[in-house]
Amino acid sequence: MHRFRALAVTAAVTLAVVAGAVVGAVAMRPVSAPADDHHGSAGAVMHQPVRKEFRRMLREMSARNVETYDRTLVSFGTRQALSSTTDPKRGIGAAVNYVFNTLSEFAKASGGRMTVEKQTFIQPASDDPADRVPQDTEMTNVIATLKGTQAASTNRVYVVSGHLDSRCTDPIDAVCDAPGADDDGSGVSAMMEMARVMARHSFDATIKFMAVDGEEEGLYGSTHFAQDAKAKGLDIQGMLDNDIIGSSTGDAGQREPHVIRLFAEGVPTAETPRQAATRINVGGENDSTSRQLARYAKEVAENRATDMNIRLIWRRDRFLRGGDQIPFLEQGWPAVRFTEPNENFAHQHQNVRVENGVQFGDLPQFMDFAFTNRVARVNALTLANLADAPVAPKSVRIITANLTNDTELRWNANPEPDVKGYEVVWRETTDPLWTHVIRVGNVTTFTAKGLSKDNVFFGVRAIDREGNRSPVTFPVPSAT
Ligand SMILES: [Zn+2]
Repeated sequence: MHRFRALAVTAAVTLAVVAGAVVGAVAMRPVSAPADDHHGSAGAVMHQPVRKEFRRMLREMSARNVETYDRTLVSFGTRQALSSTTDPKRGIGAAVNYVFNTLSEFAKASGGRMTVEKQTFIQPASDDPADRVPQDTEMTNVIATLKGTQAASTNRVYVVSGHLDSRCTDPIDAVCDAPGADDDGSGVSAMMEMARVMARHSFDATIKFMAVDGEEEGLYGSTHFAQDAKAKGLDIQGMLDNDIIGSSTGDAGQREPHVIRLFAEGVPTAETPRQAATRINVGGENDSTSRQLARYAKEVAENRATDMNIRLIWRRDRFLRGGDQIPFLEQGWPAVRFTEPNENFAHQHQNVRVENGVQFGDLPQFMDFAFTNRVARVNALTLANLADAPVAPKSVRIITANLTNDTELRWNANPEPDVKGYEVVWRETTDPLWTHVIRVGNVTTFTAKGLSKDNVFFGVRAIDREGNRSPVTFPVPSAT
């Protein structure tokens, strides 16, 4: 698989020489990038090795299982959010029960660490004609929680989500057939296969596997979950939304079976006026926590083990579209969205029909289940790394007490017992991805002599004894 062959990047090598001269003896890691990154990203990516246990875990994931879940979801005829919650065979209620029962079965292999719940709420009717809930509607999210095993980390939560509801051309038609094989049977099925396999492994931090309701009516399930999580004080450090990850073929017949798009916002949805003022002064519009999460996914999950390239897209979502990552962004949490590389809009939000010989509708025949399983592996490997690694360093500051061409960084010590130390990363301000790393040991301050904060972007990440690295924290200017 030549795609992932390590390759020195000319620009980065030049920089490394400069950096070597100025920071002296500090260790510089070589930089690598996919050999034929056909998306032309200019910056290099620091791919991280895949642990043996994680490699084994990914091999347990099966496209055949993904197909079974997806075809079962389609068999309920419609999963429209306003459809029957009580019919055992047709409608959203039957789908909720299927996902709940299946996840409960998977939880048995977790030794009591995985619990499954239905989170039911009433979405009130709205008079707004743009709104898609004409009467008070009961909605239900299904959530499997795999509790972390390291006491200091179990309150830290990562969420992976797909939406259970589907729709036809008319978003409030609760009767028509709405198979939703791709939108979003694919995301739910991927989540289920992750839950099945990951329930049998343990991780330091907690992971929530979720199927949410009411996405097509207005992101209601994810909004309810996010607001409830905020009220309960959950420390959500990352959310992966999977919505439309079922087909590797676009509407012109183009195929990209080894590419997944990952959407990540720049300027944070929940940015405060004070944060905006800092960003306007010294930059950082490409360094939101969601961008760090997206870079992280590329570093840990674009490799031979997943057999996938991750195409980062620097925007919150596609034009005219939104998704379940948005309610998490509104709460100030890092959240990103996976979507197939080329969409076919004849297969989304369309009544099932044939017109001029063209089949419309979101049907299983358009799915590529091996592709969906590979996307599930990208998610699983990202989650496993996140949940086993230390939390991203907190309160990372770039010291601005005096004018100097050195760069002094400070951060708070991480209390997790397996933290071995920290790494300072940096890149040219015009590079999209981190290109350089300096191992600084188990300290909470570091001065990069002769490497000016005016000229490059810095970040700090933590590393544990097993070699798991946290996502990067982008520093804020501070006098102390
Ligand atoms: Zn969707």
